[in-house]
Amino acid sequence: MDKRTTSHSLPEAPREFGFWMDGGWHGGREMFERASPGHGVAVTRIPKCTVADLDAAVAAARRAFEDRSWAGLSGAERAGVLLRAADILRRRRDEIAYWEVLENGKPIAQARGEIDHCIACFEVGAGAARLLHGDSFNSLGDSLFGMVLREPVGVVGLITPWNFPFLILCERVPFILASGCTMVVKPSEVTSATTLILAEVLAEAGLPKGVYNVVTGSGRTIGQALTEHPDVDMLSFTGSTAVGRSVVHAAADSNFKKLGLELGGKNPIIVFADADLEDAADGAAFGISFNTGQCCVSSSRLIVDHRVAAEFEAILAEKMKKIVVGDPLDENTQVGAITTDAQNETILSYIAKGKAEGAKLLTGGGALDQGRGSYIAPTLFSGVTPAMSIGRDEIFGPVLSSFSFSTTEEAIALANDTVYGLAASVWTKNIDTALNVSRRVRAGRFWVNCIMAGGPEMPLGGFKQSGWGREAGTYGVEEYTQVKSVHIDTGKRNHWIK
Ligand code: NAD
Repeated sequence: MDKRTTSHSLPEAPREFGFWMDGGWHGGREMFERASPGHGVAVTRIPKCTVADLDAAVAAARRAFEDRSWAGLSGAERAGVLLRAADILRRRRDEIAYWEVLENGKPIAQARGEIDHCIACFEVGAGAARLLHGDSFNSLGDSLFGMVLREPVGVVGLITPWNFPFLILCERVPFILASGCTMVVKPSEVTSATTLILAEVLAEAGLPKGVYNVVTGSGRTIGQALTEHPDVDMLSFTGSTAVGRSVVHAAADSNFKKLGLELGGKNPIIVFADADLEDAADGAAFGISFNTGQCCVSSSRLIVDHRVAAEFEAILAEKMKKIVVGDPLDENTQVGAITTDAQNETILSYIAKGKAEGAKLLTGGGALDQGRGSYIAPTLFSGVTPAMSIGRDEIFGPVLSSFSFSTTEEAIALANDTVYGLAASVWTKNIDTALNVSRRVRAGRFWVNCIMAGGPEMPLGGFKQSGWGREAGTYGVEEYTQVKSVHIDTGKRNHWIK
């Protein structure tokens, strides 16, 4: 694509980062060079840390936890740091969005919106830090009083994927900090820049040293070592279900660390005949194309009432053809580049499988030549059955598989016919249908006549093989706490030895 059509230019040279540990930058390691997926130009250089670096970072996080420089503060003091971080993020919003685009390939306008959401995460986390509390039991009789304390779990390992590097980070970090925990973060090796920039933001906001540490490197080395680490009390992992499974084994084989898992999805969007079909089609086009479909909550299975299926698919295909796919640095772009070559190949191979399995291609169906970078046209397949791989597997790309149904029971059964349970949506003007379907479909996030709506006040997480636990909001803070029951005898002891 002609560079003159973009409103932002590429960096003159790749930006070089160190890794962040115990309140400072560290370097002198072998480097990994990341090329912008939208342009094929080197944009960042990131250290390949060693397992010894990871051990040192975990030790720093342990010291910072034990010295109580963070856990010992009041909720109000922790909230003060989180609110200052929100202000700094507001100041550095465009810069962070720019580096997110360069490493990930998402459109610049979308990236800025994501940073706004991240600022909100810090503000909600600040409120949650002040409101975090335990419980008491006044029901144990006059001589016994019970208190339930919430205490921070301790040192948290945080492993994040490449699709929303900063957003997924910020849907966790403020809540981990609100709880009083310290942490070691391992971002995806291809999108580490903004996780490192957050270290500067938190330091400027007044976070004590050693509370937030970032160790960069591959999943197989640093990620695996973090999951196996005997001095990590809890691990929050966001990524594929396959790696999630190995994380569970690693936790069991090391110290039984507590786990939070946010994994894959194959999310249904159910459209009833009485829905506003124009609205639903716009929601479906957005749900599958947002972030090039590289989104854990992408609505990738369309389940549409057979009475309107053909009409709905025609409206949807027309809308999908109009989506502006192109240079992520162009302000007008709606869908950017595919983030990695491997993911590009995976998506194209599923499009080929869909054609071979007999699904009917209604729009898209291949790569788009933009002169450089990897781009795929938003794709819609009709007549998909649960037996087809495009109907079952998480593709993690802009490929929508359409099924049809005759009864509400059939729609619910199709929606639940998956090993995943991350998100779902239903489109109908009938309140009974909307409520019944919301209650019967097994998914952690549900949208009625909307898609991907919400804020960091609401919990997120999955049913079934989409994960364990919840992130964000007060539920998210509680996830990073342990509950302790304290029993207080208020009377004279009833002696055991008579
Ligand atoms: P991935 O599982 O390959 O990698 C995720 C992270 O784990 C990366 O930081 C990676 O370096 C690390 N990793 C890789 N191997 C590891 C190992 N053996 N031990 C420890 N860490 C290891 O996933 P990805 O390709 O980066 O992301 C795509 C997947 O993530 C999709 O399946 C998607 O659904 C899922 N995802 C889920 C959510 C959610 O909230 N549920 C959000 C985003 C992405």
